[in-house]
Amino acid sequence: MKISRNHELIDINRMPIQTNIADQCCFKHDNLPFEYFCIDHDVLSCKECLAESHRSCQKVMSVDIACKGAKQSQSFIDATELVDHVLETTHTIGKDEQDFIENIVKEANSVKTAVRIVKEEAIRHIEALEKSLLHDLDLKKDKIIQKSKTTIKETEDIKKSTKDKQDIFDLVNKHGSEKQAFIAVHAYKQDLTDLEKRVTGITEKSTRFTINLNPQKLQESIHSIGSIELSEVPSAVKFVQKKKCQSQMPIVQAQSMPQFVYKQDLDTKNVEIYGMTINDNNEVILVDT
Ligand SMILES: [Zn+2]
Ligand SMILES: [Zn+2]
Repeated sequence: MKISRNHELIDINRMPIQTNIADQCCFKHDNLPFEYFCIDHDVLSCKECLAESHRSCQKVMSVDIACKGAKQSQSFIDATELVDHVLETTHTIGKDEQDFIENIVKEANSVKTAVRIVKEEAIRHIEALEKSLLHDLDLKKDKIIQKSKTTIKETEDIKKSTKDKQDIFDLVNKHGSEKQAFIAVHAYKQDLTDLEKRVTGITEKSTRFTINLNPQKLQESIHSIGSIELSEVPSAVKFVQKKKCQSQMPIVQAQSMPQFVYKQDLDTKNVEIYGMTINDNNEVILVDT
């Protein structure tokens, strides 16, 4: 086999799948090749199309003639540039989405931490409420007990005074005269009335407490400890259609300058710096050779 010097050999695996591009046929008329180009409509046309749609067109040429110099034509350059532009943008979108996923995972994790902190705060708050509730319980319990202790003391006092009277009446009853009994009854009449009043006073005022918890229904009063909010802004990646940006400046992805951290002084007095760049780790590199 003779290989012409002007032909380039390429790896068969790198050939586009649809190699026989000449087989591109009319979309409307299957299997009919594009043989014509209508300049009026700026479209390819097969035999059938020509008859159907371009009969009155002024500028119809054979594809073989129209194709002359196609590789240098503006439309071919435009088409290849558009392909590059779309591929570049899809690459940027892919990377941007991947970065976005990583970022959203990070954000979700910090929200989880924040939720845990809110929960811990709520628990600390409930613990403080518990402490105050138990303090109130102790105060109320002590007050009730104190009241009962006062009653016991007062009752003891009445009992002691009554006992004294009982001793006197016993003595008079066993060993005293009728006169002594008469005098005792009348002499202690007021004392006995007072003792009776004091005892009545105690029994009349006496009440009984019970202590219970009136629980706050937490499920009803605490509905939530927060809510998850999303905020949405347009993505930074923009695809500007080639036609719209043709006469404009080339698109450069906006890049924010990295933040630099001072690490050390560099003595550049006797060194000539030829170049300066920033690597992917955001480190400044000075080139001296
Ligand atoms: Zn056709
Ligand atoms: Zn036409």
